[in-house]
This record gives sequence, C-alpha cells and structure tokens, in this order.
Amino acid sequence: MRILIVEDSTPIRLYLAKSIADLGIDCIQAKTGEEAFAGYRQGNPDVILLDIELPDMSGFDIARAIRAEESRTDRSDWTPIIFLTGMASDESLAAGIAAGGDDYLVKPVSAVVLAAKITAMQRIRHMREQLLEVTRQLEVANLKLHALAAADGLTGLANRRHLDEQLDREWRRAHREDNAISVIMIDVDHFKAFNDTYGHQHGDDCLRRVAGALGQGARRPGDLAARYGGEEFAVVLPTTPSEGARLVAAGIKNAIAALAIEHSKSSAANHVTASLGVATALPRQFTGDQAALLKLADQALYEAKHRGRNRVVWVDATMGQVRLASAA
Ligand code: GH3
Ligand code: MG
Ligand code: MG
Ligand code: MG
Repeated sequence: MRILIVEDSTPIRLYLAKSIADLGIDCIQAKTGEEAFAGYRQGNPDVILLDIELPDMSGFDIARAIRAEESRTDRSDWTPIIFLTGMASDESLAAGIAAGGDDYLVKPVSAVVLAAKITAMQRIRHMREQLLEVTRQLEVANLKLHALAAADGLTGLANRRHLDEQLDREWRRAHREDNAISVIMIDVDHFKAFNDTYGHQHGDDCLRRVAGALGQGARRPGDLAARYGGEEFAVVLPTTPSEGARLVAAGIKNAIAALAIEHSKSSAANHVTASLGVATALPRQFTGDQAALLKLADQALYEAKHRGRNRVVWVDATMGQVRLASAA
C-alpha cells in the first residue's frame, strides 16, 4: 500500500505524511502538479490525496488528466483520489467529483478521519480488483466453452453445428468473391460390421484415427474437417474447384487406407476404407443454396457406395449440367 500526497503547504504535507506513516503505510510526497504526475506514473500509488490549489495547476485538472490517462491504458486502471480542500462548499465538492475525484477531506484534516477514509478507499479498490479478476476468469471460461461447443466430443474435429456455421460463412464469401466452393462427404464402409466384429470400443478408436486422416487431406488454413454424425464426416474447401477437391478427396481416401486398420468383414478391402462424395459449385450460378451443395455431395457419396465403396464420386455443378462421375 502506497499513498501519493499532493500538497504545496509544507506543514500540512508533513503532517499528512506522518499520520500516514503512523498507519504503517508508505507515502510519496509532491508539492506541485508536475511532481504529482511524476509520483503517479513512477510511484504507482494505491490512493492519491490531492490538494485543490497548487502553484502550477489546479487539483481538478490533475484529476481529469489522471482519469484520461487511465482510460487510455486498456488495463482498466483506477486509483482512488481524495481531494484536500480548505472550504467545504457544496460547489467545491461537486466540482471535485465531476473532475474524477472519489471523496474529499476538509483541512485541517483529522488523523482519525484520514485513516477511516483510506480504509474505505482500500476496501473499494480491493472489491474492484476482485471484480476484474472474476471478469478475467469469466472471459477465459467463455473462450473454453465456445471451443467445446464447436467440437465433436469423440474425435475433437468440428461438430455439425460448427460445420453448418462455417459452410454458411464460406458460401456467402464465395458468392461475394465469385469463387468455387467444394464439399466432401465421407462415410466409413461397413462400419456396422466393424463394430459387430471388433467391438464398439475399437469402433470409437477407428473413428478417431479416421478423423486424424481427414486432417492430413485437408491442410489449407480455410479448410474445415467435421464429424457430420456417426461414422460420417464432411470437409469444406473454400476457393477450391472440382479438380482440387478431387485431389483432396483422393488424399483422404489414401490416408484412411494407409491407417491399415484390419476389417475382415468388409466387401471393399481387408482393411478399413471409406466412400467419398465431392460436390463443387459457383454460388452465383448455382440454383440452390449451401444445403443443396451438401445434398449433392451426399448423392455422390451414395453413388460411391453403390459402385462398390472405397472410391470417390464427384459432381461438378460449375460445368452447367449436373452429373456424377468417378475415378477408377
Ligand atoms: P455402409 O458401408 O453402407 O456405409 O455401411 P455401414 O455399416 O457403415 O453403415 P450403417 O449406416 O448401416 O451403419 C453405421 C454404423 O456406424 C452404425 C453404428 O454401429 C456405427 N456408429 C455410428 N456412430 C458411432 C460411434 O460414435 N462409435 C462407434 N463405435 N460406432 C458408431
Ligand atoms: Mg494548496
Ligand atoms: Mg453412414
Ligand atoms: Mg458407413
């Protein structure tokens, strides 16, 4: 605890300094406005006792300048100011509060009243610090909550809600900038049989590893991989034409195969595989919205299942006529 005393009258200043020292509190002394600012900036006081009449400027001006400085630093700093006044006029009190003061003391100052006011100011300052601390903790908790609300619990990927929000944003951006946007829908092949054969626990592990493989395929900063639900995943690829999206899809398909997770009951391979549907559109030309684009990707995925699984089927709506195509 440290108090800054700003008082040009030496006897009064020394008396105040002694009273404060008797309370076991440190103090800094200033005789002028200039010294007051230096004491405020370098001494970092907890309370300021501020005389109204000083040789170089008024205490009101000093209080206003200190409040202005505090509001410029965004650490929401606040040092209590108690004015020292010779007369206890109502106008003088009101002017002091208006200038940013918190309380006032009439000279000659009683040591008992001084001690009581300092205690009161300390109490307010302490409560304010607690409030700021709680606010900081709330902000941190809020950020964590926000991240949790956007993530899928099992895989840590974005959840469907986050995917929908992101797709919505990217769709509007693509429309504005007249860019192509692609989405990939991914569904693990014969996953029910995998669970039945190896157990649900292994099924969960498998989904986590598949989620990891998705991240390897979709690498650009704007790409978003999400768990769409169950054993289905989706990837949003902003500013990506069909060929690019097909490359990403092939990369994901290969990364899933490279996990080499045994799957003896699959008709597609003896390891875990996935089927992928890719859809690309130019929002300005496309007849539907982003939900329609997802639906196209889902139709392509369905077709991939139909054609034997473990493959990519794509539909490029930017080419005018919408039809499904697949690589070997
Ligand atoms: P298809 O090749 O046609 O996609 O067949 P499938 O068996 O993968 O598809 P189906 O939709 O019939 O079954 C999906 C299964 O995925 C059902 C359920 O057992 C499993 N599943 C869904 N969510 C989870 C999960 O969170 N954990 C585990 N372990 N299994 C899940
Ligand atoms: Mg004075
Ligand atoms: Mg499915
Ligand atoms: Mg499946």
